[in-house]
Amino acid sequence: MDHTLAADLGRLPELLEAVRRAAADSLDGLDARPVVPPPPAQPPRPEPLPEDGAGAEAALTAFRRRWEPRLSASAGSRYLGFVTGGATPAALAGDWLTAVHDQNSNSALDGGGQDLERETTGWLRDLFGLGPAHSGTFVSGATMSNTTGLAIAREWLGERLGVSPAEDGAAALGPVRVLSGAPHSSIAKALSLLGLGRSALVPVPTLPGREAVDPAALDRALADTPGPAVVVANAGTVNTVDFDDLRAVAALKERHDFWLHTDAAFGAFAALSPHHAHLVDGLDASDSVCVDLHKWLNVPYDSAVQFTRRPDLQTRVFRNAAAYLGPLGADPDLVHLTPENSHRLRALAAWFTLRAYGRTGHREIVERDVACARALGAELERDPAFRLLAPVRLNVVLFTLTGEPDPDRLTARLTALREAAAGEVFTTPTVHAGTPALRAAFSNWRTTQADVHRAAEALRGAAAQTAVKGTA
Ligand SMILES: *Cc1c(COP(=O)(O)O)cnc(C)c1O
Repeated sequence: MDHTLAADLGRLPELLEAVRRAAADSLDGLDARPVVPPPPAQPPRPEPLPEDGAGAEAALTAFRRRWEPRLSASAGSRYLGFVTGGATPAALAGDWLTAVHDQNSNSALDGGGQDLERETTGWLRDLFGLGPAHSGTFVSGATMSNTTGLAIAREWLGERLGVSPAEDGAAALGPVRVLSGAPHSSIAKALSLLGLGRSALVPVPTLPGREAVDPAALDRALADTPGPAVVVANAGTVNTVDFDDLRAVAALKERHDFWLHTDAAFGAFAALSPHHAHLVDGLDASDSVCVDLHKWLNVPYDSAVQFTRRPDLQTRVFRNAAAYLGPLGADPDLVHLTPENSHRLRALAAWFTLRAYGRTGHREIVERDVACARALGAELERDPAFRLLAPVRLNVVLFTLTGEPDPDRLTARLTALREAAAGEVFTTPTVHAGTPALRAAFSNWRTTQADVHRAAEALRGAAAQTAVKGTA
């Protein structure tokens, strides 16, 4: 054994203790360090590959010196960009132990990990109010969950048309139409990957002033579609967190032949809150459902779940026949259910946090984040420098600056504002109905009203700065 490696093995407990101290120190400092540090004046020069290593503790020191200061406080309470969760204490523990046990939990030949994963997807199904006809599998993120759901949809189209895209290729289907109101960008990416093509996506009009699909327009679009189709329903859009009326969409199945995939990446968490559960009424009627876990469940990256009512079609797409894996059987191994073969015991972090805090604990996180989003919305609304572009429906505040009619200058001012505030609060840019804007999305378990005030102060201060610069 290499002598440095042997030395690390000899003092593994002390080494883990050093890592534990470093981790505690980093988490302790989350609140004080810049939410997103400014980029360095000089672009970093990559160091050459070390010929001789100096051991794990020296690597830890080098990481803390060179790289850690560059990393954002994305695990902290005022990183409000994208839709970003943190890691609950239990989720972090589960993730550490995932690496400790280093399982490749995908077959019954060594079945402990996959049984744990199945227990966890069962819990998640209950958490989101899905019925027993849905079975779930872990994937790396909502993009992969959407891709997996649409791959099953593709095979369903084949079943309807008497062909198998899994065997004969997507071309066997002929032209395919995927109808959706305000789909996430990952849907087009999935269609590209699946050989259906980005142009298969047919936009359907949304309700006036909304991002929710107009059910009557969807009805007409389905009537105009020759043959079976795919509908992507959206439960929580990223700009305005709008929800399609899932019951109304599912009811169209009485008149039209389509697969219903619902992208509920973070919107599914509305089910945890009695005040908001109505937003996802009817989710269970979907044929496939996407939910991200590294967002609002607050498990570390990378984790999401994919639910479907048709695991038989799922195995047709993803089966990985190999002599050493044996026959598929009635309850196929995980290796036959997702794009990956080998994968980490991704379920463990979710298992830990659900076991530790239960439905009640996770409901509290969701409700507190929603209350924080409302509070920030109210603070910005009171300030004449800001304008909300949509009501705060759930956990996202979509806002812009007032008094800047020129879109290019508005974009420049928003960029300046975002950068000036980034040490205190991180938001991400967007464009909504042609208007440049910023989004603040609340999904971290640590965030409190004190963070909302701090974020609002930082945004107000940065807005005042850009106003001064703008008129100078
Ligand atoms: C975040 C998100 C996705 C993509 O999720 P990744 O985890 O980044 O792959 C898809 N759909 C919606 C609605 C999202 O919010």
